[in-house]
Amino acid sequence: MSDFYYSNGELYVERVALSEVAERFATPAYVYSRAAIEAQWQAYEHALSERPHLICYSVKANGNLAVLNLLATLGSGFDIVSVGELERVLKAGGDPAKVVFSGVGKRRDEISRALEVGIKCFNVESMSELERLNRLAAEQNVQAPVSLRINPDIDAATHPYISTGLKENKFGIPYGQALACYRQARQQANINIVGIDCHIGSQITTIAPFVDAMDKLMNLLDALNAEDIQLQHIDIGGGLGIRYRDESPPAPDEFIRAIGSAMNGSSYELLLEPGRSIVGNAAVLLTRVEYIKENGGRHFAIVDAAMNDMLRPALYDAWLAIKPVLEKSTAAAVKYDVVGPVCESGDIIGLDRELALAEGDLLAVLSAGAYGFSMSSNYNARPRAAEIMIDNEQMIEIRKRETLADLMAAETML
Ligand SMILES: *Cc1c(COP(=O)(O)O)cnc(C)c1O
Repeated sequence: MSDFYYSNGELYVERVALSEVAERFATPAYVYSRAAIEAQWQAYEHALSERPHLICYSVKANGNLAVLNLLATLGSGFDIVSVGELERVLKAGGDPAKVVFSGVGKRRDEISRALEVGIKCFNVESMSELERLNRLAAEQNVQAPVSLRINPDIDAATHPYISTGLKENKFGIPYGQALACYRQARQQANINIVGIDCHIGSQITTIAPFVDAMDKLMNLLDALNAEDIQLQHIDIGGGLGIRYRDESPPAPDEFIRAIGSAMNGSSYELLLEPGRSIVGNAAVLLTRVEYIKENGGRHFAIVDAAMNDMLRPALYDAWLAIKPVLEKSTAAAVKYDVVGPVCESGDIIGLDRELALAEGDLLAVLSAGAYGFSMSSNYNARPRAAEIMIDNEQMIEIRKRETLADLMAAETML
């Protein structure tokens, strides 16, 4: 994380000290590095330069308009899972012709809107969805571009909640039914078959499951070719992991090389849907210690960020590094449970962290850029955090901290 570093005992993002960010925008706040986001996207782009390709950034990892706009400016496509994400992409200047639409539960209004703006492809997850799509496309008198999301039945060896490619998951069309579904899709008057896709999970730190998935897709492609069903693209999904602690996931170029060789020299357009690996290590969650206390022999540091701001530790047992913003002598360090103020014992930011802390200290929760703000909520009537983008020496407030008035704005009394 070279855009996040200590200098003279202070933690910086690009050329801005995090203490200055806290001073100006208060805490808790998400603090992003523009350079870090761009560098990750460019690492993919560079690795893909030899073949026809499209990076479809997965909006659900982080859908802030500034993040989407930055990626749209670089030429990125987008993977969406709702009409809300589609409208975000459009508002941020994204090109609808570079949007793929995933998800098991696409509503009629969502499909109609996506047809209307002319997205690149619907990643269809069931026969019922295919029929619904055909009907809605007929109503608009258009052809719906379709890729079938195949469930390759692969164990991505990740947390069960973020594993999506096993046959017992709700996602995709079972591998064994794929051919029959393509045959049926070909019969539908308003369906235009353009691709095949899969997405096997998230935070995957080895290459093997991706290569296995690509092998399975290539086998299907051979069978489809034999029936003269011609595709234009293969979409291998997202899911490449990042380093939170001691993981060593492959870098984008190593990943692409392995995927590329599994494609056996074929010249299909390669689509990817990375989310976490673009933005995950490009942000910290900045928080302040409110209280220090000891209960039953455990040391607690109660900070002003909570599970409503960062759900991953509570939801997935995720481990995030926690660093002091101002380095101190570790002589007085003890093991702290760093927790939030929310009334749940699961409100954990990190357990058993060796830190030297005092009330009022600032902490940075690292690797907070993906599934951080985007999963945040208003639980306990807590306004969602501010989001700040650092661009060299500039601090740009890309989302204001919510106000209590915002929280109550849509409600009425009897
Ligand atoms: C969540 C998701 C992604 C992105 O996954 P990452 O692990 O963030 O790369 C891509 N495609 C689909 C269909 C998804 O649901």
